[in-house]
Amino acid sequence: MYQHLGQVDTPQRHPRSLEHRKARILQKLPDLSETVRGTLSEEYLTCGHSTCRCHTEGQKHGPYVYLQTTLAPGKNRRVVVPRDLVPRVRGWVQNYRKLKELLETVTEINTEIIRASRGPQAHAAGRRGRRGPR
Ligand SMILES: [Zn+2]
Repeated sequence: MYQHLGQVDTPQRHPRSLEHRKARILQKLPDLSETVRGTLSEEYLTCGHSTCRCHTEGQKHGPYVYLQTTLAPGKNRRVVVPRDLVPRVRGWVQNYRKLKELLETVTEINTEIIRASRGPQAHAAGRRGRRGPR
């Protein structure tokens, strides 16, 4: 049966169904060693030779592909990706995003498992710990 992903108050909420969903996610996990965090960008550049076509005809060199990774807020690392490695690095970037997405989904499912597994006491504790109107 079709099930909307954002919907939680359904039979899917049963812990066993949630475990099945996790098992399906694990089958889709990309290879950890084939990942890299960052974004790829392309640039066209001019060289140091003033007589080169990049200066005389406006035909710049490139594209040069860069991998940029944020190391801290406002601090980025940038490396040039050799041309023959570009397709592989594209795959790494995609794998990283997919992995992160799947991890988030596992977090959502496990949170549902916690919610679905707790008894009346836990419900009371959950209410006591909550701030503001529900
Ligand atoms: Zn040039």
